[in-house]
Amino acid sequence: MMRTHHCGELTAENIGQQVTLAGWVNRRRQHGEHLAFLDIRDYTGLTQCVVDNTVDARSEYVITVTGTVTARVEGTVNRDLPTGEIELQDCIIEVLSEAEPPPFPIDERADKVDEMVRLKYRYLDLRRERMQRNLRLRSKINAAIRSAMANQDFIEVETPMLMPSTPEGAREFLVPSRQRPGNFYALPQSPQLYKQLLMVGGLDRYYQIARCLRDEDLRADRQYEFMQLDLEMSFVEVDDVLSAAEVGVLDAAEVATGVRPTEVPRITWHEAMERFGTDKPDIRFGMELVELTEVFAQTGFKAFSSAGSIKGIKVDGGASQYGRNKLDGLTDEAKAMGAKGLVWLKVIVPEAAEGEQGSDGVASGLAFQSPVAKFISADETASILSTMDATEGDLILIVADEWTTTCEVLGELRNRIGRPPVHEGPYKYLWVVDFPLFVGVDAATGRPKPGHHAFCHPHPDDLDKLESDPMSVRAWAYDLVLNGWELGSGSIRIHDPLLQRRVFALLGIDDEEADRRFGFFLDPFKFGAPPHGGFAYGIDRLSAILAGEENIREIIAFPKPSSGVDPMTGSPGEVDDGQLEELGLRVLPPAE
Ligand code: ASP
Repeated sequence: MMRTHHCGELTAENIGQQVTLAGWVNRRRQHGEHLAFLDIRDYTGLTQCVVDNTVDARSEYVITVTGTVTARVEGTVNRDLPTGEIELQDCIIEVLSEAEPPPFPIDERADKVDEMVRLKYRYLDLRRERMQRNLRLRSKINAAIRSAMANQDFIEVETPMLMPSTPEGAREFLVPSRQRPGNFYALPQSPQLYKQLLMVGGLDRYYQIARCLRDEDLRADRQYEFMQLDLEMSFVEVDDVLSAAEVGVLDAAEVATGVRPTEVPRITWHEAMERFGTDKPDIRFGMELVELTEVFAQTGFKAFSSAGSIKGIKVDGGASQYGRNKLDGLTDEAKAMGAKGLVWLKVIVPEAAEGEQGSDGVASGLAFQSPVAKFISADETASILSTMDATEGDLILIVADEWTTTCEVLGELRNRIGRPPVHEGPYKYLWVVDFPLFVGVDAATGRPKPGHHAFCHPHPDDLDKLESDPMSVRAWAYDLVLNGWELGSGSIRIHDPLLQRRVFALLGIDDEEADRRFGFFLDPFKFGAPPHGGFAYGIDRLSAILAGEENIREIIAFPKPSSGVDPMTGSPGEVDDGQLEELGLRVLPPAE
């Protein structure tokens, strides 16, 4: 070994020992006329070395230092540094690599440097404590997940990166085939089809830390390629999958934060929408949606009388925080999200209602200040106040629309008003189960779109409505949510080939097309497929949240910025004509 110790481990207990450290010069400072202080750094920390001024070793030079561990003199001890009680003296320095001055300081000051510069010089950025901490944390998370899976008798199986195009929903990356010009592989959106075939193959419990690739626009929580803990199990029901998947997530949380989450509540998708207005509720804060449709059953207020669903949220003490401008802003946001409008009511004691008409005459002595207060009867006022448990100074926001819009708009406003940053504790995990089988309609085909993907098992209680009322059919599909971020999704799968064809038919894929495109997947189910189900969660997202990072790029060694162009390697780049010819490809001139 080139070293006897790491740079962060020497303490007063080592005083008198001769040691050798290896690492990078972190900083050099002049010390009197003949000496210099040189901090040597590796991933464990720093050690101060006293060296002769003639030593030629500058920032980021790679060196070894052999010296004697010596107590620092009184007054120069640095309590903030684990090695702050000692320094190395009588040092012999060997320069292993010289270094040009780095483009940014290799410390926390680089956090303020333009991210593109950090990514261009990612190998330097990685030397920093933050990146070291994040990647090491991620490695621990991976290890915890692997052992959680192995302990539950899952076996790790790798699946192909080159595969056929599949109907999983995302845009795929295609790879041209040299041997069969004009033909393409797709890179896996996920190992979904292979893992189901592993179940047909009798593997029983599979997992993989799998790379998935989707050609979707990039943003803070999305990369073209990302890592998933992917699992599949045979002879199971929903609860079995949730319990097995949970162990890995909770073990990972425990190694990362030192605290094991005690419970992961389960709620249905319908309840999530009703209470939080979203399928990924952040349950760290209240401000739940309150049902008001009944309150307005007899209303004379036009905007409310014809609405299918009326709900409200209450902002405690919000009346004084939200002036006219802010409320107009919220109204505009609600409209941009598809609502016809947003009704706001400030809860006041009537004398305070200047200029606006209060809907008074209510036993509580409270009334509303609002442009629409005059349309709200005394009974309705009393009823809103008690249903929403509102008191003086509160702000109430109401949306009246069809059910989905009402829920989603209020869910979004709830998040905007009340949601803490995602990485801010506490960590609250939540299972959302019984997702709809289909969500919305594909504009191009007029067909229902799969809520998750085309292989989810419809809820058996809803099977008879599959063709007659497909949009009301629930699926045995579930998501895991952490602090309002979707961590992962899964489902019990269809294992009956006839049922799979019924679902394909609803999606507009007839038998002939199904055989042509997915025969490789459908045929195996004729040979005896066990009931099975699985789940997958994003390791980038999980690690980012557990590391307290808002951007998943901070826990990925070599991520792509949102342009998709990697400033370090310059990819994607052009290839030479010979390569294109071999693949039978010709590049068209850019579209006008
Ligand atoms: N393949 C799915 C996905 O990547 C997960 C699953 O259904 O197991 O989202």
